[in-house]
Amino acid sequence: MYTTRPYVSFLLPCYNESQVLSETYRRVKAVADSLGKTYEIVFVNDGSTDATLGCLLELSRRDPSLTVVDLSRNHGHQLALSAGLHYCDGERVLIMDADLQDPPELLPGMLALMDEGADVVYAQRRSRPGDSIPKRIACSLFYRFLGKLTEVPIPVDTGDFRLISRRVVEIILQMPERHRFIRGMVSWVGFRQTPILYDRDGRFAGTTKYPFWRLMKLALDGIVASSVRPLALASWAGLVFASCSLALLVYILWSWFFVGKTPQGWASLMMVVTIMGSIQLFVLGIIGQYLGRMHEQVRARPIFIVRDVFRQGGRRGLGDGEVTRCR
Ligand code: UDP
Ligand code: MG
Repeated sequence: MYTTRPYVSFLLPCYNESQVLSETYRRVKAVADSLGKTYEIVFVNDGSTDATLGCLLELSRRDPSLTVVDLSRNHGHQLALSAGLHYCDGERVLIMDADLQDPPELLPGMLALMDEGADVVYAQRRSRPGDSIPKRIACSLFYRFLGKLTEVPIPVDTGDFRLISRRVVEIILQMPERHRFIRGMVSWVGFRQTPILYDRDGRFAGTTKYPFWRLMKLALDGIVASSVRPLALASWAGLVFASCSLALLVYILWSWFFVGKTPQGWASLMMVVTIMGSIQLFVLGIIGQYLGRMHEQVRARPIFIVRDVFRQGGRRGLGDGEVTRCR
């Protein structure tokens, strides 16, 4: 712990990012030094299987402003961020990706907006030429769909790249949920939240760690963590299909009385049975999503496990240049 807090913490989760780390560090460091304030840079190694940890330790041997949080295995981006937040001591915390898709050079503008009274300055993508067209379309649709579901609005086209104040960090740290959707949680906190527009670059090097299935999981986590409205879908579906069956009943009675025979038909019967069956399974699936998450929450396991935290001397009174494990 610092005796006085650094002015700003940079928080970067890394999963197999060895190809980008030295460039990321160079750009973050340049921005940090240009501020003329105290700062720390917190890297979280999210169970990388490449040389990421080695690169980070090498950097931290040279630079006392670095903290490296090494998780016990791959926990996923959102949990890596949550773990990192525990180790950020700054008055303000800049959350950004390690692949330089989020330009650290935006920080001075964000700090200025925070000086004007914002507690959260979130970076909103004006364009994202660095991402593929299907991903852009899927993300754009997702944010608009999510906006319809949540009671507290979550800004569209906005990832986790944002500057948050100490009091917001403290509140996020108190939220015990396992399936975390940080951008939704930050929106939920409230206070004054201001956008800053930017163009999202492509990845500096390496490949995305969010293939399609992982994006889908994040989307599902986002919806289930931020809204209970899908649960009401069962009632609405019930209402719609009850109206249809009422109309069908009227038609059958009318045919019986006035035409003298009831409509025949295996095909129509099968159609109704299969439609009803699938709707019921779909709704059960939605309930299952919430129930499964409740089950995991009730088990109350720790949401992440830290193997080691590496920091150079200073903080714990150890010799300069010595990178030490602290727990
Ligand atoms: N990341 C992580 N753990 C994971 C997946 C990703 O810490 O399990 C980090 C990754 O190293 C990067 C950030 O989260 O710093 C965003 O990931 P990525 O750039 O692959 O996502 P994309 O920008 O393609 O959506
Ligand atoms: Mg990226």
